[in-house]
Amino acid sequence: MTRAVRILDVEVDAVTLAQAVAMIGEAVDAHGGHGATTFQVATVNPEFVMRARLDPHFRQVLRGASLRTADGAGLMLAGRILRHRLPERVTGVDLTLGVARAAAGRGDRVFFLGAPPGVAAAAAQELAREFPGLPVAGTFAGDSSEAGDAESLEAVRAAHPDIILVAYGAPAQEQWLARNLDVSGAAAGIGVGGTFDYLSGRVRRAPAWMRRFGLEWMHRLLRQPSRAGRMAVLPVFLLLVIRQRLASRGTR
Ligand code: UDP
Repeated sequence: MTRAVRILDVEVDAVTLAQAVAMIGEAVDAHGGHGATTFQVATVNPEFVMRARLDPHFRQVLRGASLRTADGAGLMLAGRILRHRLPERVTGVDLTLGVARAAAGRGDRVFFLGAPPGVAAAAAQELAREFPGLPVAGTFAGDSSEAGDAESLEAVRAAHPDIILVAYGAPAQEQWLARNLDVSGAAAGIGVGGTFDYLSGRVRRAPAWMRRFGLEWMHRLLRQPSRAGRMAVLPVFLLLVIRQRLASRGTR
């Protein structure tokens, strides 16, 4: 069992990237085909936590996930404010790279679902180039809404993946997995957000130095100013985390 840190209404697991990748491998090993227990992973950022406050269904979906990693500088800061150490950022891109590397070695079949047409295939191709031997089970853009489930499931099931990477953005990708992972035949599913955009070269990722200083969010904001609306929740998020910290001090 991993240690979890409660950040507002969401439990976040204190795991490293290597631990998260290992847990996904174990889930694949433990999986016995259809009907067996599946392993859903969510990479949680402040937008997730803020949405979970107002959206009971999303809150429940996150609660039902097997692993919730701390994705981004906002969550690391929240951990520090709450005096609970979160070991490192585990983003969708890093998790995808880690899982692809492991899968290439282990022979786990990976399915790429989501993003605009052609992007999942380009991302898969790039990963297969970087990690020779990676078993790409299949790729499909699909439709993130419930109406698209039947078609996507058909594509996924026919490909017999062990792991599904879903790039529909939150909360659609988490909801897709909550609805479909158990009947997909796969052992594990990860919501990976804009990861395929980066891997396919459609969107450029922040340079290493910016990532090191926890400034990836700034790079994304400068590149895609439309994200500003989504990021406006950050100050409120931090204020609420500080309030949680003060309340917990009061009850000690
Ligand atoms: N997306 C999609 N279908 C949808 C909504 C989003 O394929 O109905 C894709 C979008 O093109 C992008 C990804 O989902 O590739 C989500 O990226 P975003 O940058 O919003 O996610 P983040 O990394 O911020 O969680």
